[in-house]
Amino acid sequence: PLTATDLIEEHRICVCVRKRPVNKKELAAKELDVITIPSKDVVMVHEPKQKVDLTRFLENQTFRFDYAFDDSSTNEMVYRFTARPLVETIFERGMATCFAYGQTGSGKTHTMGGDFSGKNQDCSKGIYALAARDVFLMLKKPNYKKLELQVYATFFEIYSGKVFDLLNRKAKLRVLEDGKQQVQVVGLQEREVRCTEDVLKLIEVGNSCRTSGQTSANAHSSRSHAVFQIILRRKGKMHGKFSLIDLAGNERGADTSSADRQTRLEGAEINKSLLALKECIRALGRNQAHTPFRASKLTQVLRDSFIGENSRTCMIATISPGMASCENTLNTLRYAQVEI
Ligand code: ADP
Ligand code: MG
Repeated sequence: PLTATDLIEEHRICVCVRKRPVNKKELAAKELDVITIPSKDVVMVHEPKQKVDLTRFLENQTFRFDYAFDDSSTNEMVYRFTARPLVETIFERGMATCFAYGQTGSGKTHTMGGDFSGKNQDCSKGIYALAARDVFLMLKKPNYKKLELQVYATFFEIYSGKVFDLLNRKAKLRVLEDGKQQVQVVGLQEREVRCTEDVLKLIEVGNSCRTSGQTSANAHSSRSHAVFQIILRRKGKMHGKFSLIDLAGNERGADTSSADRQTRLEGAEINKSLLALKECIRALGRNQAHTPFRASKLTQVLRDSFIGENSRTCMIATISPGMASCENTLNTLRYAQVEI
């Protein structure tokens, strides 16, 4: 039988999978779609039917998650079952995190930031913006209105273990830990926001700062974690915080054998942070006293979100449908199966 603790823990972690539609390139290459989502919580990966080196692939595999979204799902739908419930958490003095995890090109930025394909530069439908919209709606509710909360936003990037402020021309920031294990990003810009439009402007500023000077948006973003935070304050004191994170591509582990030293170091750093993240999420789910947050800059910066009574997290594992992505997809699904 379920105990009271089981019931509380039940919703501390939510993990879902989102399959993106087959794109033009995959279509042109006549790539097989190897992913089926037969019900709202099951993902099936099919063994390729063509003659390939089968030892590289496992047999048909079935994975179960809290939710599985197929390629017809919208950001709004994914949002409703993942980040939306966490908006309540920050109003109830809690800490919330929402991660997009997956291979480069699988839809992390599309899900979190919005639609940035071609001429389309629309951040209004991403989870950052949808969460902000609901924060401002919640503020109007009588219960919360009387608290006189103020809303702030930060936007920064973690690249090769270093923190850069996306709202302040990529200023490099130091991370300090005081004697009480409080972690502080020194000088991080925290901008007050009064409406969704204010937030959209900040997302635009941060996004353009993130990719400036880069030959390709994806080349850079695949190697860095982007963290967008919505902070509620009451009389200056933190009331709740929501961190929304577009993680570095998880395929980068392969770079650890690259000939280029910098690329190798970046790959190792990404591996380290993604492993540390999984450990911290697991610790949160188990209500574990010790959270190994020091293992990476990412988890260190998010420390206050992994501890505490009222911390909740969700992970959106994004996957590509094509056969060429099969190995990365299996890695993503295995990672996302957080066993508690
Ligand atoms: P990632 O951030 O994981 O590298 P992106 O979000 O940049 O991946 O997605 C790669 C490409 O696929 C982009 O052009 C994006 O617009 C498109 N895309 C991703 N997910 C979807 C989706 N669910 N529906 C339509 N297009 C998508
Ligand atoms: Mg991206």
